[in-house]
Amino acid sequence: MNYNIALIKGDGIGPEIVSSAVRVLEKIGERFGHTFNFTDYLMGGIAIDTCGNPLPQETIDGCRAADSVLLGAVGGPKWDKNPAALRPEKGLLGIRSALGLYTNLRPAKLYSALSSECPLRADIVEKGFDLMIVRELTGGIYFGERGRRDGKYGPEAYDTEAYSVMEIERIARVAFETAKKRGGRLMSIDKANVLETSRLWREIMHRIGEEEYPEVVLSDMLVDNAAMQLVRCPSQFDVIVTSNMFGDILSDEASQITGSIGLLPSASLGDGKCGLYEPIHGSAPDIAGQDKANPIATILSAAMMLRYSFGLAKEADAIEAAVDSVLEAGLRTADIIGTSDKAPLGCTAMTDAILAAI
Ligand code: NAD
Repeated sequence: MNYNIALIKGDGIGPEIVSSAVRVLEKIGERFGHTFNFTDYLMGGIAIDTCGNPLPQETIDGCRAADSVLLGAVGGPKWDKNPAALRPEKGLLGIRSALGLYTNLRPAKLYSALSSECPLRADIVEKGFDLMIVRELTGGIYFGERGRRDGKYGPEAYDTEAYSVMEIERIARVAFETAKKRGGRLMSIDKANVLETSRLWREIMHRIGEEEYPEVVLSDMLVDNAAMQLVRCPSQFDVIVTSNMFGDILSDEASQITGSIGLLPSASLGDGKCGLYEPIHGSAPDIAGQDKANPIATILSAAMMLRYSFGLAKEADAIEAAVDSVLEAGLRTADIIGTSDKAPLGCTAMTDAILAAI
């Protein structure tokens, strides 16, 4: 098969880590008989410098026409003082909305080879964890009406949360489908003891579960309890589904307990097959251009693309197994070197090792 992939390398370490993922995809193409065609597009700081716009129309058109999009990271100190319209992250929010991406998938897995990096207690680490957070990405309080006004106690600010039945139904289906492909357990996280949006959320999750996914075991948890349970017993979770703001906070908490942001991929999906795949970390300007970046989060993002956009599960498994095997063999980049007495590998050497393992 032939697949067209739009590449947005972005700023900082973006070009190095995306090039690593491209090499891995080419290797997968060779081994499994697929052709991946790559086209570069500008976004973020480099797009501001080159064409005065963090998200040029050509990038939007190219990504819409592609089968999927692989993104490195955008931003850096050079653009930190720019006005809002000329900030690199404007490109990031703009491309998600231009592609209609309303779901964010973030796996958080503890690699046994890296368990010493986990900040949790040894008895919790011993049980391991491998969970997936499904976060609603384009609704809720981040997109509701907001402003300033005169209130009961004088001037005040307000934000509002609204969720439509349609928005909850569509994220519910993504979450149930994800749970079906994993361990068959879905935890819906809300604040239904207080919020009306959460009560509607819970009602719809249960209706969709009963009517369409009886084989998935659905449970509910209040968000304050979930924040505690993630550090007390993360192994209890398989798939978590939650609203935009709760997902924003809980997915960062989940990434921290894995011990390394250099390892974690993510996917943003909409109704079609085209998704936006990117590491959860930023552009790491402090190590850019020095061949020190860990390419694994971007390589695993490419694996998610194969699995979720192209339906290539065997190929995605091959990448994930190669990453597992290099970590098990004790190979490390500087960010995950821990107490190892071996010299850290650079971005290129780590990519070479993963290619060899594939
Ligand atoms: P960051 O994730 O870029 O870096 C935090 C720390 O982690 C740094 O010490 C960095 O060297 C290290 N690090 C990150 N990724 C690494 C990797 N793959 N390998 C090895 N070390 C790695 O976060 P930050 O410093 O807060 O932000 C830097 C820039 O990135 C800012 O301009 C920010 O706006 C931007 N940013 C972009 C995205 C995105 O594009 N999605 C996300 C977050 C931050």
